[in-house]
Amino acid sequence: MTLKMPEPKPDILARRAEIVAALRAIVPGEGVIDDLDGRRAYESDALTAYRQIPLVVVLPDTKEQVAAILVWCRDAGVRVVPRGSGTSLSGGALPLEDGVLLGLSKLNRILEIDYDDRVAIVQPGVTNLAITRAVEDRGFYYAPDPSSQIACSIGGNVAENSGGVHCLKYGLTTNNVLAVELVTIDGEIVRIGGRALDPGGLDLLGLIVGSEGLLGVVTEVTVRLLATPETAKALLMGFATVQGAGQAVAEIIAAGIIPAGMEMMDRPAIHCAEAFVRVGYPLDVDALLIVELDGPEAECTYLADEVAAIARRNGATTLRASRDEQERVAFWAGRKAAFPATGQLAPDYYCMDGTIPRRRLPEVLQRMDRMSDDFGLKVANVFHAGDGNLHPLILYDANIPGQLERAEAFGSAILRLCVEVGGVLTGEHGVGVEKRDLMPEMFSENDLAQQQRVKCAFDPDLLLNPGKVFPTLHRCAELGRVHVHRGQVPHPDLPRF
Ligand SMILES: Cc1cc2nc3c(=O)[nH]c(=O)nc-3n(C[C@H](O)[C@H](O)[C@H](O)COP(=O)(O)OP(=O)(O)OC[C@H]3O[C@@H](n4cnc5c(N)ncnc54)[C@H](O)[C@@H]3O)c2cc1C
Repeated sequence: MTLKMPEPKPDILARRAEIVAALRAIVPGEGVIDDLDGRRAYESDALTAYRQIPLVVVLPDTKEQVAAILVWCRDAGVRVVPRGSGTSLSGGALPLEDGVLLGLSKLNRILEIDYDDRVAIVQPGVTNLAITRAVEDRGFYYAPDPSSQIACSIGGNVAENSGGVHCLKYGLTTNNVLAVELVTIDGEIVRIGGRALDPGGLDLLGLIVGSEGLLGVVTEVTVRLLATPETAKALLMGFATVQGAGQAVAEIIAAGIIPAGMEMMDRPAIHCAEAFVRVGYPLDVDALLIVELDGPEAECTYLADEVAAIARRNGATTLRASRDEQERVAFWAGRKAAFPATGQLAPDYYCMDGTIPRRRLPEVLQRMDRMSDDFGLKVANVFHAGDGNLHPLILYDANIPGQLERAEAFGSAILRLCVEVGGVLTGEHGVGVEKRDLMPEMFSENDLAQQQRVKCAFDPDLLLNPGKVFPTLHRCAELGRVHVHRGQVPHPDLPRF
């Protein structure tokens, strides 16, 4: 593993048997996984480039057990890595050698569905798609739809502030979560937010959504339910050039149209996806745009005509509108399967997740093309074009020495480019370990220290998911005095990673 993680504490490693016994006392039965093969199943999340077998895995059944585990770990000075379904692409759930892997997958019940208030209250291990499945018969759904929605957990979605193709119009997780129940490292069970739109007290919900398991463990989530739109129509549009597709995206937004989703794929991604799902994507184009309009039938038809006219003006060579629900779903199938589809081109991919101002898209894609030559690695691009969120998939073979390191360097160069053109390091996959060391590209030492003060307020001993998000984790007691002066870092004796 090329990644630098916090040094394992020898005293904790030496106390493994005692830690396992203590966890077994809290979670009896099969909830503690101690054997090597069982632990190996948890050695990575979907950022498989980095692996680490955890000290022990614990799978609690109740929030009370979660609280007891956290208190025990706090008292014993043991680090804890929360995990939902392990689909994170930024290494957020990467275990630590001396850390307890706290899996939330057994907390998987839908506790309440309230159609009057239009909310569902669910445990964190419920999958994203299961929420929609539970309410769709009554004409409702949960809007944020990560492509991993069949597997990823709502707790993980909250921790990563996940998005999806429909977030352009309906917002990300943060816009669709009304409340969470959080267990702190002190074992306190706190509720943040409420069913009403404006619950009392400070608005701490925004702090928790996207906190990547660093502030507490989410044990319950109240989500907003939306009424399923009367109609949804998707347009599949092929362009000879990426510039044409990029310009069409800009003009659609400038025309005041907010599609339910607006996704783009480049030539390599189109070819992979089509070979994978065979839904009739055009193969003679450089860029494919899928634009979905939803709402009342008349509005959809009117807006679809407007979008089609914009596409034609910008050189669309293929233009198909879905004729029924089956075809609309088929249009999306390739996009949703684009990541695994790249398996046809290379055994491994490294998925980046930066965001840029929409109008810089053609330029950024051109520069990425040149970088692909420089680094000697192919890249397939799928992205949420409407909100400028890029997902370049860098293709490599981990078995060829040096390719992972080149993929990492290429990925860092792409993210630096995103920041250079006025964008940001992350779109929806979180910082995790993947973008951790690039945080100073966006944030000053002061910014990072302020962010870490928030972490210290929740977790002063830095036991929750250390090694993620912050490039350098300062001891909370020293935080106020950390100031780099003429290149000299104070307290050089403190462990930094
Ligand atoms: C093929 C594929 C497609 C994807 N497509 C998308 C996409 O379209 N949009 C998108 O946003 N993401 C996407 N992802 C990324 C991933 O699915 C999301 O980040 C998802 O939210 C992770 O959920 P999880 O349950 O797997 O969490 P994990 O991977 O288990 O954990 C992710 C982070 O959340 C923390 N965490 C998990 N549960 C809790 C909890 N209960 N309390 C506190 N912290 C917790 C972990 O510590 C970790 O930091 C994709 C991933 C794959 C593999």
